[in-house]
Amino acid sequence: MKISVLCIGDELLRGSTVNTNLASIGRELGAVALFPVMEMAVKDAGPEIRDALDILFDRSDLIISTGGLGPTSDDVTKTVVAEYLGLKLYEDAKIADRIKLFWSTRRFGKMPASVLSQALVPEGAKVLENRTGTAPGLIVRSKDLKNTIIMLPGPPHEMYPMLMESIIPYLQSTSKERLYTEIIYLSGIPESCVEEKAAPIASSAPGLSIAYCASPESIKVFLSGKDGELVRKKMNLIRKALKEFLLSPGAKSIADDIFFLLRKRKNKLGVAESCTGGMIASAITDIAGSSEIFSGSAVVYSNDLKMKLLGVKKKILLEHGAVSSQCAAEMVEGVCREFKTGAGISVTGIAGPGGGTKEKPVGLVFIGTRYNGDTIVNQYNFPGTRDMVRRRAVSSALNQLRRQIISLQD
Ligand code: ATP
Repeated sequence: MKISVLCIGDELLRGSTVNTNLASIGRELGAVALFPVMEMAVKDAGPEIRDALDILFDRSDLIISTGGLGPTSDDVTKTVVAEYLGLKLYEDAKIADRIKLFWSTRRFGKMPASVLSQALVPEGAKVLENRTGTAPGLIVRSKDLKNTIIMLPGPPHEMYPMLMESIIPYLQSTSKERLYTEIIYLSGIPESCVEEKAAPIASSAPGLSIAYCASPESIKVFLSGKDGELVRKKMNLIRKALKEFLLSPGAKSIADDIFFLLRKRKNKLGVAESCTGGMIASAITDIAGSSEIFSGSAVVYSNDLKMKLLGVKKKILLEHGAVSSQCAAEMVEGVCREFKTGAGISVTGIAGPGGGTKEKPVGLVFIGTRYNGDTIVNQYNFPGTRDMVRRRAVSSALNQLRRQIISLQD
């Protein structure tokens, strides 16, 4: 089955809305080994939508569209698609009742007649309930059954639940041949080195496809094939070959992994951040239940606070400066002592673009980690913009602690 994605909305082309629907659809299809062949973004207008349907139906059997299903006059997706496929629109009484009920609970006064346009559906359409809004999703097939289009609403909080609850199961059930996929998450290794180890294992058997996806949080490896047993067997070999970089089962990022590792060991984390300004605390507290392992973070930008809150010695700051391995060591030891935690992270560096010198250039970052009474400090030289330096500092700091924890036997 060849799938393409059509994102409809003027705001996507103007750049005022980032096309997160495309990213979500691509990511979730990829997780079940379905990879779209093409994507288009077009304005909410009949001629552009029709052109896109011509092109995408020429190259795929199924289009997933998002946007333009609402009640306003610029929401034309459904009408254009119905006309394109030669299907009539009729009012679905169940959807109309749901919309009236939804409206009555929101105390907006009299409902404009246009709102009920969302209850119009093309003949033969399968209707998908919208739990978080009013416009239903629609699965529509052409009369000759050759082409299918799945129309989803534009707002991500309406689109995503439908994608996960209805569309992914629908696509899996209609795929002629079932594809099996295994995914693993790794960190602390470049994507090219992952490929060097994993690709020969995948290509040692026919019918397997392997894909990689790298982000600052992790590297994902997808292995897919029609023989589920073979996929499992080969993925186990890849796991073995990359054992030391493998995140804990259930972890999708390094922060997740730190959470699992510390929870298992009943340990808590304290963080002292300078140039990352709270980004490590943010990555950890993104995880539901993080209070089980996280005591807190001190954002200590000034030398004064480094001394007052963490007990960094004035001598260290005068002799070596705040961006030094000595200062990073005192910061992590200070935070573990003050916050009474068994695990700690400290970051001090020059994120730029200004503030660098010949001896201490922009991108120089010292990261301290402490676990089981031992302190490790490493020096990093990150290339890139301020944002990239700070993001790299966060993932390197989490990874340094992770490696320190797993280097100790339980
Ligand atoms: P509504 O009932 O809200 O009108 P709709 O299906 O007509 O829903 P649109 O009007 O096209 O959807 O978009 C509604 C909002 O959803 C947009 O203002 C935009 O913020 C968001 N949105 C639309 N498409 C996308 C997309 N591809 N990625 C992220 N956000 C999107």
